[in-house]
Amino acid sequence: MSEASGSIAPAAVPVKRPAGRGRSVELSDELKAYKGVWVFVEHDRGHVHSVSWELVGEARKLADKLGCQVSALLLGGPDEALEKFAAEAFTFGADKAYLMQDPILKGYRNEPFTKGLTDLVNKYQPEILLLGATSMGRDLAGSVATTLLTGLTADCTELRIDPSSNALAATRPTFGGSLYCTIMTLAYRPQMATVRPRVMLMPQADASRSGEIVYDTLGMLESQIVTKLLDFIADASSNKINLPYADVIVTGGKGLKNPENFRQVFELARVLGGEVGATRPCVQAGWVEAERQVGQTGKTVRPKLYIAAGVSGAIQHRVGMEASDVIVAINTDVNAPIFEVAHYGIVGNAMQVLPALTQAFAAHLALRRRQAA
Ligand SMILES: Cc1cc2nc3c(=O)[nH]c(=O)nc-3n(C[C@H](O)[C@H](O)[C@H](O)COP(=O)(O)OP(=O)(O)OC[C@H]3O[C@@H](n4cnc5c(N)ncnc54)[C@H](O)[C@@H]3O)c2cc1C
Repeated sequence: MSEASGSIAPAAVPVKRPAGRGRSVELSDELKAYKGVWVFVEHDRGHVHSVSWELVGEARKLADKLGCQVSALLLGGPDEALEKFAAEAFTFGADKAYLMQDPILKGYRNEPFTKGLTDLVNKYQPEILLLGATSMGRDLAGSVATTLLTGLTADCTELRIDPSSNALAATRPTFGGSLYCTIMTLAYRPQMATVRPRVMLMPQADASRSGEIVYDTLGMLESQIVTKLLDFIADASSNKINLPYADVIVTGGKGLKNPENFRQVFELARVLGGEVGATRPCVQAGWVEAERQVGQTGKTVRPKLYIAAGVSGAIQHRVGMEASDVIVAINTDVNAPIFEVAHYGIVGNAMQVLPALTQAFAAHLALRRRQAA
């Protein structure tokens, strides 16, 4: 539709929702009709964020429990490869994909994406809507939930179907991470949740799977949008730290005492070809960038090898790393909580153990390279 034509497609009529702010646990008959599990597929300059596929995998499990379909939502510009992304979504477990392509949807902006998503929800009525807890997903989930007057549980660590109510039971940390709470949206639909990257496992792709694509239109004019996307300028100083998807992470904690000692963490990570992580106090002290923080208010990681040196193992740190395949902890205190989740524990001074490990790995890897040559 051209802007000059001035015609706007009518928005889908929202279903009437329970009035008032009081506690209501009953679904209205209209909201009982909502069916299916949806995943918002986040993509940026030709790449789908892996969290979207992790969520399609989770959505598949929820939908199998409910006996319903999984749908992927793809919004973007006319020249973006949404059909290719939809085909990929099918391989990860989606049955259907809703595609909305419009020049206005090229590059994320809150207003058109909120309208697109809320219109699709009002028209096709899913019972669950999942988004990644990324910058984009967090921004969009909040405005969509507010517009739809429904419940949103952010940063979930587990998603289940409650057997007695068939509601989504969304678990997340609370009270500073010292407790977990499970939240259910009983009287509103869709039930919305966000999940951070790497919290859920990446599903196996099945190339033989396919699905149905449903095309829809946005029905919005550029002149109705306050925010303008003038240009995309990559952050030249951004240092490409990709902690959530690293295979090897060496993390330093406050037990390393100062930034000079922390260099030992970088040395070991360099030899192992891994990334460097840190606890929150190290970030707060300015020893390393905030992007390196692992934990509840940092990144969730799932490496094959996680080495924690001078890290006490507070619950807020553990929630971000305890799903790692192999955890090695180095700590002077034999009673440090990190040893409860570690597969291998070294009771000792990290300032001596880290250089010894670096030297041993460097020698071993050099020998392997010589043997392979
Ligand atoms: C709402 C909230 C959110 C939070 N989010 C996060 C988060 O995302 N990530 C996070 O990490 N923390 C987070 N925290 C902070 C968390 O509670 C802990 O304070 C923090 O993880 C502790 O960091 P640490 O292990 O580096 O330091 P410490 O607790 O001070 O532990 C240092 C450890 O080093 C050991 N040690 C001392 N000397 C040596 C040595 N020479 N060699 C080896 N070991 C030594 C000590 O025995 C000790 O176990 C959060 C807290 C709150 C309240």
